[in-house]
Amino acid sequence: SSKPETRAFEAEVSQVLHLVTHSLYSHKEIFLRELISNASDACDKLRFAALSDAALTADDAELRIEIVADKDARTLTIRDNGIGMTRDEVIENIGTVARSGTRRFLESLSGDARRDTQLIGQFGVGFYSAFIVADKVTLTTRKAGAPAGEGVRWESGGSGEYTLETVDAAQRGTTATLHLKEDESEFLDVWKLRDLITRYSDHVAFPIRLPKMHEGAPTDEFETVNHAAALWTRPKNELKDEDYQGFYKSISHDFGDALAWTHNRVEGSQSYTLLLYVPEKPPFDAVLSGRDERKGLKLYIRRVFIMDASEQLLPSYLRFVRGVVDSDDLPLNVSREILQENRLVAQIRGACVKRTLDLLEKLAKDEPEKFARFSATFGNVLKEGIAEDGANRERIAKLLRFASTASEGEAKTVSLDDYIGRMQAGQDTIWYITADSHAAAKGSPQIEGLRAKGVEVLLLSDRIDEWMIGYLGEYAGKKLRHAGKGEVDAEVDGSEAERRKQAAEAAQPVVQKLAGLLGGRVSEVRVSHRLTQSPSCLVLGEHDMALHMQRLLREAGH
Ligand code: ADP
Ligand code: MG
Repeated sequence: SSKPETRAFEAEVSQVLHLVTHSLYSHKEIFLRELISNASDACDKLRFAALSDAALTADDAELRIEIVADKDARTLTIRDNGIGMTRDEVIENIGTVARSGTRRFLESLSGDARRDTQLIGQFGVGFYSAFIVADKVTLTTRKAGAPAGEGVRWESGGSGEYTLETVDAAQRGTTATLHLKEDESEFLDVWKLRDLITRYSDHVAFPIRLPKMHEGAPTDEFETVNHAAALWTRPKNELKDEDYQGFYKSISHDFGDALAWTHNRVEGSQSYTLLLYVPEKPPFDAVLSGRDERKGLKLYIRRVFIMDASEQLLPSYLRFVRGVVDSDDLPLNVSREILQENRLVAQIRGACVKRTLDLLEKLAKDEPEKFARFSATFGNVLKEGIAEDGANRERIAKLLRFASTASEGEAKTVSLDDYIGRMQAGQDTIWYITADSHAAAKGSPQIEGLRAKGVEVLLLSDRIDEWMIGYLGEYAGKKLRHAGKGEVDAEVDGSEAERRKQAAEAAQPVVQKLAGLLGGRVSEVRVSHRLTQSPSCLVLGEHDMALHMQRLLREAGH
């Protein structure tokens, strides 16, 4: 054993600690879920390491998590016999904000406590949540495979500093002891703990054990209180909605529910299980914008956790999906490089896309209110699929929702099928207009003519729309056309055509005068039939970039 060494937390850790303890108080019991989830991760890591070095678990093969409350000492202990940590790892993992996610998290804080609390939930604040209920935390750990003399004790009151000490540790793994604050005695109650475990951690795949009770007092014997089986391996008809929601929370660290999920066992040339969730709440802005590193789809091989493989198993436009893929056939020593080019992985990825689109279609059909919430949150991410996934373009397009001249306000509620259902006799074009804002799209002079004739126009005002719609030339055999490009309607009958011809001739002197005045700044001045109220508008050639897109590119410095 060495003399304790005192070290300062990184400034950012202090910030996180302060924030966590202050804004998460209303969800204080999440600390238990977070510490159990760390213990479970540590067991996963050891099981994986033992695949190539069986000696690591030889002396103590049953991976488990134990929780002990001591009423006299007022401590709550969470103990695992997982991978453990070396001294350097303790410094790296517990004393610094090593993970870039933490940094982004801090950057995204707004000072709005309610919003921040949700963000923390999404982010899974992890180990530091212990300080919501504890005024001192002692962590003792020994790395699997290290000698008993290389144990490490870390201790902190959660205010800027911690101490570190080398100690003897008889067993591998990590023990976190929480010295509970005055008001937190409820977490010393075994029934309360049991309730929390079954509520939040029932589907942790390792046994979570509590002391057996005898005449109201804990004994030295332990019993397992969670289900301790990988949820996705259980038959669907045995699982209730609460089971799925509980598991969702345990893998996503979300406080809220999932919106929908799909659970499938595939047997055939290769066998695997998929359990995919669509979240209810928007995650980080960074996730929506695609700047975040992608996380949230866990790859298991024959029940052994291998790695987070979102990037390999899901295309970017489905990056909001959370869940588990468990393969029977991939080799356990699979690496990221192998995953990139593996044929079985490509098949599983195809299945993930198909099942997600199936799920969204079903939601749109059976639960339109839920689907509307999905659209509002993730609709713009899904649009990227129009460009990214040519093979599924039509299916994705079917799921998109837009504002239109026929819908109320700015809400995006109109599907392309709705539009087609309302088309006028003889109309074979889906008209749209793009602009910087809904108001600008709606008020655009370029659509006056169509509106006057009662032709519906989709009003696109999201930044991604112009780019996306360029990839969607056609839907269900109907051409999509920009209402501000080229000639709007060649399809008029004889007398109308004659009237237009005369009007155009009568306007010739004005047209020539304007053309002279504008000179090289326009390519042509012509009489338009698309206007009903405005005297003039700018029109693009059939193949010119839309005005809105030109402006975006200018803004971006092109
Ligand atoms: P996260 O679990 O999201 O990485 P945490 O704050 O919960 O974040 O934990 C930080 C890191 O500390 C973990 O990634 C892990 O490396 C380490 N750690 C925490 N608890 C344990 C444990 N019981 N056993 C081994 N390592 C742990
Ligand atoms: Mg954690």
